[in-house]
Amino acid sequence: MEILEKVTKKVQNKQNISQQEFDEVISLYCNNQVSDEEFLPFIQAIYYFGLSDKELFYLTNSMQKSGATLDLSSLGQVVDKHSTGGVSDTTTIVVAPICACLGTKMLKLSGKALGFTGGTADKLEMFEGYQTELPLDKAIELVKQNGACMLTTSKDIAPADKKIYALRDKTGLVDNIPLIASSIMSKKLAGGADIIVIDVKYGNGAFMQTKKDAKKLAKKMKAIGKNAGKTIVNVLTKSNQPLGYNIGPKLEAIEAIEILKCRKYNSLLYKACIHLATVCVKLDKKISYHKAKNMVKEVLQNGSALQKLKDMVAAQGGKPDLFEQSYDEPTLVVKSPKVGKVKKYNTKEIGNIVGSLSRQNPDYGVVTFAKIGCKVNKDTTLFNIYAKDTSTAELTALKLLECIEIK
Ligand code: URA
Ligand code: CA
Repeated sequence: MEILEKVTKKVQNKQNISQQEFDEVISLYCNNQVSDEEFLPFIQAIYYFGLSDKELFYLTNSMQKSGATLDLSSLGQVVDKHSTGGVSDTTTIVVAPICACLGTKMLKLSGKALGFTGGTADKLEMFEGYQTELPLDKAIELVKQNGACMLTTSKDIAPADKKIYALRDKTGLVDNIPLIASSIMSKKLAGGADIIVIDVKYGNGAFMQTKKDAKKLAKKMKAIGKNAGKTIVNVLTKSNQPLGYNIGPKLEAIEAIEILKCRKYNSLLYKACIHLATVCVKLDKKISYHKAKNMVKEVLQNGSALQKLKDMVAAQGGKPDLFEQSYDEPTLVVKSPKVGKVKKYNTKEIGNIVGSLSRQNPDYGVVTFAKIGCKVNKDTTLFNIYAKDTSTAELTALKLLECIEIK
């Protein structure tokens, strides 16, 4: 296709590209008029040569327009919260009900697992019967009723991103700031919120390895949002170990409930939830951080946020069993092989290891116990492994022990 080659050359030569040119190229690919092989050079050109802020907005806009944009105007101001992806990041399931309690409306579209990260939608499905797919009018009704609603991104949301992401994934082109920025923002803009809080993770458990790169990604997303007339606020979070203790859809859903029950008080995950909810409420209500934080803590500590999640789950057809569930006996308990202090986690690899377990069954996963800096001895449990059988768990244990440095 001539236009595709022409635009690809323009990317390589850093020439101006118009909105219409991006629209044409994206539409060719989405309508299967060009193959993956034909489209790949265009993505490679962006990967190696980048785009100007204006062009990155045009690309994102074309991707957004490949599907539906939710019309949330009947809800007034709506806030969205997004994480660029971390291991054991269950913040959404805690933050949405907190915001809902305080009248900060949220209609949250969450993804399924991407690469080494778990997806919020997979965790929501651990409430038996929970409908992650609802028609928009029903979702809006639920936000009016409960203050928030959590769904999975439907096929209609930025289908161009789904195709492009799959292509990037199989060709090793995921790791790229402009491509990540356009991927995330195409979905966020289609989600229809007015204020979007993006938690940009950095470290060995994130797409961005350094704070410097996280800032670059944040800046690109902000620029795209500004061009689209939205308020984008970035929060940077260090991700050099699992955020919570539990990894795997079911275990993470259980941990979200524990946070709402104010167990694991002051854990990293607890603090991250408080911070993110505070930023959302502060922006929505235009109040000070301090005031918003007090409001957030109150609804968490007095149990209203927990009750709110119960209401939200029930409204979406989910059974309440998980709210009272305790932990099963682990398949294997892994103790520390030596005495010392936890120095380091290879977080991304832990995400991959648990991902391969929980893709077999979302009940499988790992509970970690020692955060970086913890002193351990040979009696200290490092991991509880939940797997199909002992031999799988033993193999997993060997792999996990490779991912933790104790000195
Ligand atoms: N998350 C996304 O949605 N897209 C990316 O490209 C990377 C992380
Ligand atoms: Ca609105």
